[in-house]
Amino acid sequence: MSSCLDLREYQDDPNMASIMGKIFSGKSGYKAVIERKKETLKCPKCGKILEGNEKFCPECGQKVK
Ligand SMILES: [Zn+2]
Repeated sequence: MSSCLDLREYQDDPNMASIMGKIFSGKSGYKAVIERKKETLKCPKCGKILEGNEKFCPECGQKVK
């Protein structure tokens, strides 16, 4: 009947709070993983450090992505 009443129920629900926390922590964790990969990207064949936008290794020609 009342939408206000429904919102109150969600706020008081501990499960809802935990779901919201998972969504936010998951987002920041995903971002951190992407930034880390950019820093340590290197050729899987010869180990040359790459800038991160190369499709092929300039050293040995190995396909990077
Ligand atoms: Zn290479």
